[in-house]
Amino acid sequence: MSLKRRRRLWITMLAFFGTALGTLSGYWLGRVTVVGSIDTGLYDYTHELSSRANDYAHEFDGIWKIFNPSRFPFCSQEEIAEMQAITFRLEQVKDIGRVRDDKLQCSSFLGRLDPPIQARRPTMQLPNGIKIYTNVPLRFAASSIGTVFEFEQVNVVLTPTAFNLSGHPHTRSMVLVVNPQTKQYVQIAGTKLDVDPAQVLAQGRLRTAGALYNSHCSPDLGICVVATETLQDGMDGASSLLWEYSVLGGMAGLGLSLAIGQFYLQRLGLAQQLRRALRKDALRLVYQPILRLPSRDCAGAEALVRWSDEEGNPIAPDFFVRIAEDRGFIDEITSFVIRRATEEVGDILRKCPELTLSINISSSDLEGEDLHWLLEQHVLRAGIRPSQIALELTERSTTDLTILRDAILRLHKDGYQIHIDDFGTGFSSLAYLHELAVDAIKIDRTFTRTIGTDAITASILPQILNLAESLQLEVIVEGVETEAQATYLCATGKHIQAQGWCFGKPVSAHELPKYREQMKAS
Ligand code: C2E
Ligand code: CA
Ligand code: CA
Repeated sequence: MSLKRRRRLWITMLAFFGTALGTLSGYWLGRVTVVGSIDTGLYDYTHELSSRANDYAHEFDGIWKIFNPSRFPFCSQEEIAEMQAITFRLEQVKDIGRVRDDKLQCSSFLGRLDPPIQARRPTMQLPNGIKIYTNVPLRFAASSIGTVFEFEQVNVVLTPTAFNLSGHPHTRSMVLVVNPQTKQYVQIAGTKLDVDPAQVLAQGRLRTAGALYNSHCSPDLGICVVATETLQDGMDGASSLLWEYSVLGGMAGLGLSLAIGQFYLQRLGLAQQLRRALRKDALRLVYQPILRLPSRDCAGAEALVRWSDEEGNPIAPDFFVRIAEDRGFIDEITSFVIRRATEEVGDILRKCPELTLSINISSSDLEGEDLHWLLEQHVLRAGIRPSQIALELTERSTTDLTILRDAILRLHKDGYQIHIDDFGTGFSSLAYLHELAVDAIKIDRTFTRTIGTDAITASILPQILNLAESLQLEVIVEGVETEAQATYLCATGKHIQAQGWCFGKPVSAHELPKYREQMKAS
């Protein structure tokens, strides 16, 4: 299969899985949203009904206070008229009755009863003396049953529809009166539920495999509402939302997978272009001067690699160096840099033995014999002293420490300098680097930036300088951009080296001698 077809297949599969995963995630997010909205709906429902129950409790209390004791003779015309006026006013109170000797003697609807009606046993009696009678057939409304709340000699009939709440087609609820001492309960409205309401009341809310439950109690009269909705009903009611979430999720998944695919293909494409460029020697080098402070004499230069892709766009070296490291051909870049740099600045190095050429290497370069071979080939045979070559190794290298130590010791023994790059961004201690026979540290530019500021790290720089001096490690401060930073470093009175735009940006090899002349003249 051709590379183009393989890539197309890879992108198609990625897009397919990305869309599928996005759709599933969208659907799952939609479900979570629906469950959340069912839960909120049930919460509102139980709070609305229990607040209604509270209103009823206050109304009953008012009625009991009017007639216990009454200002009229018991079951007199005036008293019945008063009871009728109140019944008429209160929408949810269907009847008010007067009770004596466990018999209903008169009521606002039935008038005086002769003979009186014998009362049943109450379904439940609360600790405060209120009796509750459930499923009472109402004489004044055939085929209707209601709940009667009785206190001392007055009872009140609550309309059977007192707890009907419209606009919640999928919600089922059960209204209970709970004895606060025994936790026993009687149902006064609603339908029986699939779980024991006591369980929901104990926890406030409950979720089973197929349904959500919520409960709330009114503080007075102990009326509690337990409401439920099945997840299926909730999902059925929100099918368009689930669709929207799934489609949006699918689109997001598709977009993301295409972006990831594009990124990897671009990296893959760049990696291939970079390898082609290496084969054609199409990379180039620039050199950034390194100066001694305070004299500002040139101490040497660092070789920095440059590359533009096949469309002519310059690619940042950290980016393509990382690609080469990740894809295992960084040795090709190192080889190019050592060869090209020794060719380009070999003459200067031979003429000026006090100058150093710094070359960046990757930790994987230390693992084999190639680096030794390369150095022998391009440094020794070209008549350049090994002490004029500084190999810069970043502090963040991940290679096994024993391999690193052995390789560094060997290079050091052969006369090459080892500089630790980006010092301060990794974990190595100065004492450990000293033990490793490292010659210099290059303090990362993040520390240089703090000079003259009150950032915490500003205080670290002088400490590093002091410690490095006591361990006889040379220090190169990177990223010196301003005259103020340079002045600060000179004022430390230490023999340090510095590199940065303040002294010079990277230049091509043939501009280097001109640069040295300019520095001497200034
Ligand atoms: P590095 O080794 O820390 O190189 C120094 C970087 O700091 C260079 O960026 C340089 O242009 C930049 N720089 C110099 N002075 C200043 C300054 O005053 N301010 C600021 N903000 N930056 C300054 P460059 O050339 O883009 O290189 C970036 C990184 O790419 C290098 O960081 C190094 O890690 C890697 N690299 C560059 N060339 C090579 C190479 O030949 N081989 C290897 N393995 N890595 C290389
Ligand atoms: Ca470097
Ligand atoms: Ca650095």
